[in-house]
Amino acid sequence: MTIKKIIDDLTLETKNFTPTLITQIIKNYGQDPFLILICCLLSLRSKDTVTIHVCNDLLKIAKTPKEILAIPTDKLEKIIFKIGFYKNKAKTLHKVCKYLLEKYDGKVPQVEAKLLNLPGVGRKTANLVLGLAFERPAICVDIHVHRISNRLGLIKTKTPEETELALQKIIDKKYWIIFNDLLVKHGQNICTPTSPWCSKCKIKDLCKQVSVIKTR
Ligand code: SF4
Repeated sequence: MTIKKIIDDLTLETKNFTPTLITQIIKNYGQDPFLILICCLLSLRSKDTVTIHVCNDLLKIAKTPKEILAIPTDKLEKIIFKIGFYKNKAKTLHKVCKYLLEKYDGKVPQVEAKLLNLPGVGRKTANLVLGLAFERPAICVDIHVHRISNRLGLIKTKTPEETELALQKIIDKKYWIIFNDLLVKHGQNICTPTSPWCSKCKIKDLCKQVSVIKTR
């Protein structure tokens, strides 16, 4: 019941918030697994507000593994230089494109273990791709999901990996995909890392505010 209430209340709270990066990508370019994958990789450790412009700049020029691989590394770096770690990310994009072309004829695999074998892909990216590109139940645990699930008192975990396993036990599979989207928007706007806006929070009554010291 608590999880359902949290999902319902966050759905209402976040309905007018800026959509998450991948939701914007799907809206603009369709549910293309390759585009979702490369935009996830570009977004790692970067703000969505910056990453969306970089994704759009890249996708204006190239939308397939072959087209991205055809961009020389120095040119790719220039296209994506506004995001953090752009040099490493340019290398990763090229490696992923090459790998997909060699192993899967340019297609993104729909199996978690195969996704995790792709260069630069960890559990967070693999789960986001499984959920948003293939609609397979998967909980993508990023910093927002990890932080807020613990603050709420739903779980008590130290790492995103522990969080994923703990959440799988308490959340109905039908909510696994949406859980990330809701908590990311809630985390970007209300339950911020420092000094969360508890006074504006629609799920305050359901929250144990674990380890929350200063609020607004
Ligand atoms: S009450 Fe505060 S700590 Fe709890 S979810 Fe809301 S904003 Fe976050």
